[in-house]
Parts: sequence; structure tokens; C-alpha cells
Amino acid sequence: MLGQMMNTPLTTTSIMHFAEKVYASSEIVSVTADNPTHRYTYADAFKRVRKLANALQKLGAKTGDVIGTLAWNDYRHFELYYAISCSGMVCHTVNPRLFPEQLSYIINHAEDQYLFIDVLFVPLLEKLAPSLTHVKGFIVLTSEAMMPKDSSLKNLICYETLIASEPETFTWPDIDENAASALCYTSGTTGNPKGVLYSHRSTVLHTYATAMPDVFGISVRDVVLPIVPMFHVNGWGLVYTVPMIGSKLVMPGPKMGDGETLCALINREQVTISAGVPTVWLALLNYLDESQAQIPSLTRVVTGGAACPQPIFDNFRENHGVEVHHAWGMTEMSPLGTYNTLKPHMQAWSEAEKTKVRLKQGRPAYGVDLKIVDDNNNELLWDGKSSGAVKVRGPWIIQRYFKAEQDACDADGWFETGDVAAMDPDGYMNITDRTKDVIKSGGEWISSIELENCAMTHPAVAEAAVIGVNHPKWTERPLLVVVPKSGAAFNAAELLAYFEGKVAKWWIPEACECVTELPHTATGKVSKKDLRAQFADYHWP
Ligand code: ADP
Repeated sequence: MLGQMMNTPLTTTSIMHFAEKVYASSEIVSVTADNPTHRYTYADAFKRVRKLANALQKLGAKTGDVIGTLAWNDYRHFELYYAISCSGMVCHTVNPRLFPEQLSYIINHAEDQYLFIDVLFVPLLEKLAPSLTHVKGFIVLTSEAMMPKDSSLKNLICYETLIASEPETFTWPDIDENAASALCYTSGTTGNPKGVLYSHRSTVLHTYATAMPDVFGISVRDVVLPIVPMFHVNGWGLVYTVPMIGSKLVMPGPKMGDGETLCALINREQVTISAGVPTVWLALLNYLDESQAQIPSLTRVVTGGAACPQPIFDNFRENHGVEVHHAWGMTEMSPLGTYNTLKPHMQAWSEAEKTKVRLKQGRPAYGVDLKIVDDNNNELLWDGKSSGAVKVRGPWIIQRYFKAEQDACDADGWFETGDVAAMDPDGYMNITDRTKDVIKSGGEWISSIELENCAMTHPAVAEAAVIGVNHPKWTERPLLVVVPKSGAAFNAAELLAYFEGKVAKWWIPEACECVTELPHTATGKVSKKDLRAQFADYHWP
């Protein structure tokens, strides 16, 4: 017997309609290249979204077309998300920090028909344009006064002019909830980047999940500052979650790595929750430490994308009363996988005990079925000790990469994340490594993340990475590579001694090398692949 409830399609259009109807007066505040404070309401935003939808139609864009964006977090990028997806097209957010060859590859592979670009990326696109195969025009996200003069780009259009005379009404198409809504490529740490094609349905279900109290837990009374770029897995979904909840949305534009701007924005707009990768928090905390500024409105920070070092948790809590929450996920997972909040019986624990829990990546959100397996694909116990490959499945997890001929998951429908973790009996995941970064020494595994976390608590260390390097006796041994804090007295032997008593003796890195900077990927993570190449011929002291 079938249920008899309405089969309303789950589309991003429904989020738009809902936000406009119920939260018309909520604000969206942005920093852009041409305006340090742009402020308008959801009602204003969706009016412009309709003008943009008309403009897209006039450009000849059709259902199913892929439209690319190279843009920072601001109100025009927000408008693009909704106008493109709700018109039945696919919003392809391109990460401008990728290498030029990767950018051309991605834009051509996706068959982007138009590119909406931030004014700051015009020089980049001028270089790429000759290699782009499908792009019919470039729309610069600015006003006529700020349009670049003498650009070599053909069919260069000003965004504000494009939408200016369009009607404020638009008839949105009915969309199948399984239709594609957005496209995002992984950064391609191995091989070419791969496209992950989200559907309206997967996006709406993911949005519900992210909004839950023990996930982002956002309320309409919150003011949300997504620092995570909108080209990085839909800004962790916040572009949809915040309008679904109706909170005020604050976006930092190109100033996302600038501690001073972030601090000013938090205070001026009374931001209560923010989300970003650990490097952003380091920039903000460094500024706060130096300036002695305070950010009293901020209560919660979500950190993800890479393991967050303990000093960030401690500094936020002790000096600013801000609780840091670890979240884990990936492009292939929309991205939410796990989120860390404390369970009731942990509330009475000491700060040290709580911190041990907070450093883990958190518990799976409902909708994410998660297991850890050994080398023979046997499921391992959630005993806090057994560590294995993390596999996931669920309605917002990838089935197949864009244009691939085979599914990305195994015969049983599980997707292998490439992460290695242990699960504890309370359901908290502790990531110890990525599969390709694990260090195997004398047949035993050593967690590079745990060693890095330990190194990062040393006062002289600004950034640390641990890689496995060939060793004549143990096959591989861990090498610690460190960027010292500026002005800090640094001593490699003293740093290695610092590990004693904190990790198993045989885990202690064999040696420590000091560098001025570590190689990073386009998403701001340490590139272990490049670091391994850099130390490929390393001779142990
Ligand atoms: P890429 O593979 O291009 O880095 P993502 O940006 O989607 O793609 O990164 C996903 C990966 O980032 C995860 O598989 C995991 O290794 C790492 N990651 C994400 N969040 C965390 C976290 N909180 N702690 C540790 N690692 C994380």
C-alpha cells in the first residue's frame, strides 16, 4: 500500500520561495571588490534573481546548460546560485585558485556556456580564454563604472547592465527533484579533477541535515558568516541552509583571509556563527592576538576541510568564549559527513577531557550511513581502537562522477572516502589519515594527523606536516616538516623531545626539518604529495 501524502518535489526553488515569503526582511550583507558594505534584504535578492533568470534566458541559456562562476562570497554570487539552478540549469562553481591548466580542463569538461566572473579574475580569464572550448561570453560581476577597460576578452558583459532592464517577474519552471542543480570539481590531488553533480533533491535533503541542532544548529536569531568559499562545495551548503532558516547572511567577498576585515565584519554585523578552514581561523586569531581586539557577538565557529589544531580550539575558548566545532566531509558528500557536539554525559567533564572529544571529527549526521573497514572490506567495531578505511552511503553522497562511465561506489553501494579513521562507542569519528598519506613503519601504522596535532601545540610551531619517507630498516619513518613562528627560537631536537610522553615512543618522528613554507593545494590544505616529492631523496641524519 502506498502512502497518500503529497509528492512535492524537493527543489532549491522551494528554498527560494520559502525564504522570500517567510523571511523577506532578513538581510544579506556583503563585501565586494567595488563596495565594502553592500546591504539588502532577501526580498531584494530574489527580485534580482528573477531579473537574472530573465537575462540568462535572453543570453540563450537553456535547461540543462552548465553556467560557470568564478567568484568570491558575495550577494551577486548568491543571486547566481538561485537564478541558475531554479531555471533548470546547472550552477558550476569554479575554484579560481586552481592551476590554469586545471581551470581550462574543468571549464571545458563541464562545457560551461557562460562564465560569471569577479572583476578581480578578468586577467586570469584573459590568459585562459584561448583554451576554452564552449564559453560564449564572460559576465563581469560589477557595475559599468568598474568594468575593465581594454580587455582582450570577447563578449565581455557587465552584470549590472545585463540585468538592469529585465523584468522583476519570472515564471520558474517545474523541475524534477532528481535534475542536476550544481556542479563542483574535486581539486584533483591525483589525476584530473573530477566533477560531482548535485541534484535538487540531494541539495534539499543535505540542507535539512545541516540545519539540525547538533549540526550547524543555526536559528533565525543567528547572524551567519560563511568564510568557506562558495566555490568550495557550495560554501558547505550554507548558501541554502541560511535562507532555509531565514538568518542574516554576511559574506566577506575577497577579504576572507584578512583577519582585520573579518574582525570588523563580525563586530559591525554582530555575527554569531562562522564557518571556515583552519587557516582562516589562524589568520583571525593572529589578528586578535596582535590587536587585542574582541569579538563578543561570536559564539560558535565551524571548522572543517582539514584537521583543526588544538591551539585554535583553546585560543577561541579561553580568550573569546567561542566554541569551535569540528565538521568533516568532502566534495563527494555535499559535503556533510560528521559534526562534533558534546553529548550530555560529557558536559560535566574537565576541559581537557572535553577537548579530547572536540578534536575528533564528530558523529555522523542522520542520512550519512558510515562504516570503517579493514583491508579485506570487513566492517570494524566502533571500539575507539580499530582503525580502517571510511566508507559512506546516503542520499547526498556521490553515485558517479560527472561524465564517468562507472559508478564511484562499490558493488554494495558504499563510497570509499579515502580517509582512515577509528569510531568510538559514542559514535565519534577520529580521522588518523588519508589512505594515501598513511605512514607504515615496520608493518605498523602511524597517524600523521596525530603527530601534526601534537607538533602544533608547541609554542614555536606555526605550521607542521608529517610525511612517510623511505627508511632502510623500517620501510618508512615519519619526517616532521615545520614552519616556525616568526621570531620564535626554534630547535629541532627540543621539538622532537616534546613528543615524548605525548605519543607512542616509536611514533616520534625520526627527524625534523625546518622550512619557510609548506606547499598547499588550491583548497588551502598542505599538499602531502608535493611535500613527499620535495623530500623524495631525503637522507636521514
Ligand atoms: P580534496 O580531496 O580536493 O581535498 P575536499 O575539499 O572535498 O577535497 O576534502 C575532503 C577531505 O578533506 C576529506 O576526505 C578529509 O581527508 C579532509 N577533511 C575534511 N574535513 C576534515 C576534518 N574535520 N578533519 C580532518 N580531515 C578533514
